[in-house]
Amino acid sequence: GAKERGRNRYAFYSNDMAERAIERLHIEQGLLRAIAGDQLLLQYQPVVRLEDGQLVGFEALIRWDEPTHGRIGPDRFIPVAEECGLIDYIGAWVLRTACAQAVSWIRQGFEALRLAVNVSARQMSAGDFVTTVREILDETEFPPDQLDLEITESTLQSVDHSRQLLAELRALGVCISIDDFGTGFSSLSLLKHLQIDRIKIDRSFVQDLPGDANGVAVTEAIVAMANRLGLSLIAEGVETATQQEFLRKLGCDEAQGYLFSRPLDVRDVDMLIAAPPEHLS
Ligand code: C2E
Ligand code: MG
Ligand code: MG
Ligand code: MG
Repeated sequence: GAKERGRNRYAFYSNDMAERAIERLHIEQGLLRAIAGDQLLLQYQPVVRLEDGQLVGFEALIRWDEPTHGRIGPDRFIPVAEECGLIDYIGAWVLRTACAQAVSWIRQGFEALRLAVNVSARQMSAGDFVTTVREILDETEFPPDQLDLEITESTLQSVDHSRQLLAELRALGVCISIDDFGTGFSSLSLLKHLQIDRIKIDRSFVQDLPGDANGVAVTEAIVAMANRLGLSLIAEGVETATQQEFLRKLGCDEAQGYLFSRPLDVRDVDMLIAAPPEHLS
């Protein structure tokens, strides 16, 4: 009967919660080994200018190659790293590694490349975040004005003094992008006051273009707003030529997505820079 089902459901949920807690613990312990054992790595996804397909830079994306489970994506372990506090260490590692790598690409001749690095809420809340960024820029000699720090709308909301923090980061010369834009809440005036540089339109809107009326309406509104506020725009998750053409006509500046390239290993980026294929140059 209903009572029995209720009990089963209760048992099911509590079981599930316990399993999730155990999985989190495994991930947490595994992350410690990952840090100690060099199991973390970065891939780099090309960002292209829509007008002419020119390669403008890369977004660094973290991966974890776990010896027995294989490759684990950031959606599975970044939230755990945030909860247990390892994100500060991992975040600094990502920034240092990406900046050092990108300096070598600049020296290989891709002088104007822009590098985007994701920053999580907890990482930004750390009292010494701005100092960490400054030290890494000094240490790696990466040009600050070629760095985009990607934060989300919810980070803006959850981090105390986010406005002050962003001002301090901008004083270092770095740019700020709002990632996954449209999936959280942010007022337009907030964006203006915070002096954001760039907005990334979330993949969930892009993937339905141009067939879905809501996707079209949201995307058009974001493009119009960004143009009025003087913000540059990147569309995420562009997978088809139709989406590319639609976004280009709408006036979106740049794009990322499987249509252009998946996230690449370092040696593939080396080759790309040495001899860019037709569609990226
Ligand atoms: P994000 O910053 O919004 O990154 C875009 C995600 O979309 C990446 O997933 C990328 O591989 C994927 N993607 C790119 N183009 C396409 C496409 O055309 N189609 C589809 N279906 N997907 C596409 P990934 O690498 O799994 O990263 C997921 C999220 O994990 C990122 O979302 C970001 O929020 C977070 N993340 C990744 N690296 C880091 C990091 O170093 N630090 C922090 N704090 N978060 C990170
Ligand atoms: Mg991102
Ligand atoms: Mg995103
Ligand atoms: Mg995302």
